[in-house]
Amino acid sequence: MTSLTFYGGTGEIGGNKILLRDGDTSIFLDFGKNFGRERQFYDEPYLSPREEKHLIYLGILPKISGLYKRDEGEPAINAIVLSHPHADHWDYIRYVKDSVPIFCGETAKTMIVARELASTGQRTEYRIANLSSSQGEQVYKKFHTFRTGDKLNIGSIKLEPIHVDHSVPGAYGFIIYTSNGVITYTGDFRLHGPQAAMSREFIDRAKQVHPDVLITEATNIVDAKMVTENEVAEKIGGIVSTTRRLALAGFYLNDMDRLTTFWQAAKTNNRQLAVSTKQAWLVHNLRDDKHLNLFGLDDPCIRIFQRKKKIRYAWENILMEHYPGKMVDARYVNAHQDELLLAASFWDMNEMVEVQPEPGSVYILSQSEPFNEEMEIDYNKLLNWLEICGLPLYQVHASGHINPDQLKWAIQEINPGRLYPIHTERPRLLATYISDLKTEVVCPVNGVEYKL
Ligand SMILES: [Zn+2]
Repeated sequence: MTSLTFYGGTGEIGGNKILLRDGDTSIFLDFGKNFGRERQFYDEPYLSPREEKHLIYLGILPKISGLYKRDEGEPAINAIVLSHPHADHWDYIRYVKDSVPIFCGETAKTMIVARELASTGQRTEYRIANLSSSQGEQVYKKFHTFRTGDKLNIGSIKLEPIHVDHSVPGAYGFIIYTSNGVITYTGDFRLHGPQAAMSREFIDRAKQVHPDVLITEATNIVDAKMVTENEVAEKIGGIVSTTRRLALAGFYLNDMDRLTTFWQAAKTNNRQLAVSTKQAWLVHNLRDDKHLNLFGLDDPCIRIFQRKKKIRYAWENILMEHYPGKMVDARYVNAHQDELLLAASFWDMNEMVEVQPEPGSVYILSQSEPFNEEMEIDYNKLLNWLEICGLPLYQVHASGHINPDQLKWAIQEINPGRLYPIHTERPRLLATYISDLKTEVVCPVNGVEYKL
């Protein structure tokens, strides 16, 4: 018997955890944090889930005996396969026993490990693994990495990972061969980014295998912005070129495409890009990844902006040792406003007290617009800061997710027997939008087992 059970990502964006059972073999496709459902019950940092049992009780983590760190016995789960390094696709692996192997792309592993090494909030037992020895390299043995072209054999299941374009590097879709048919899974993907050819490779391969099932993301079935990364680069370049004083930019930490876009905007306008220490840490860890084409921190156009703080962690000391001449603080930024493009998120706003942006400075917000109430609250707080600082707000963003028209085209090309739309708040909208195609659409319900 082969079946699929969706825990998370059903009628919601993110939190994907898809259980695939094939006879005696069981794997999870993604094991992501469910931000939305956690926010319904918790108020970080005052009330947060302290143990996995809290999340299981709330129906946020699937109840699977032996899977979690505090469980007795071993789970009947052979592996967890991650599509890409966004927390809503991987973060709950921190609750899973070290004996369960994790499969992900090479770049994804580097980013997950780097992120974990730079995070201080998690209690030791809920680190992905014990980080006390040598930068985690020894203890991350449970990660098995793959690249496009590899074939993974996990029990009776065979997986073919194929890279896709998304707003984070190391993103994959999968062709999955089971005893009762072929399943394809897009992960998160798009056709309007700089690596669109990779997504097309996935679609071509999925089409060739005549899959019984396609599991697709459909985030942008509402609110699609129809802006490409190239257009973003052009607009950002234009804004920076007309800015006379300090240019500030807010964008997601692990969006390496956007980081590269801002680096190019700085270069062409004879400015230096001052990245945050966390961004620098990611770039430092990815420095040997030849597939990424990322600039190095020793590039003459790069500076590293250090927030004022009392405690310095080990990863920050490593940065300071490697790039001593690159570090700048708020006082430096204040004195060189027309020479810098400063990466500063909402969380850096206290630094504005010292930075003191001069009249004529601007703020470029380059990340997805608020799609829920909590994000709206943070957005309004950012606006309050910008008002005090006199920083006009430009919004320039291209989504990491596929547009509706291109999604429909991809589904038509792949032509699966059955489609499960996930990672969207309105799966039924997609079902009706593609009801003229031959594909049967099933909007999955959380925790219900669907036979192949
Ligand atoms: Zn994603």
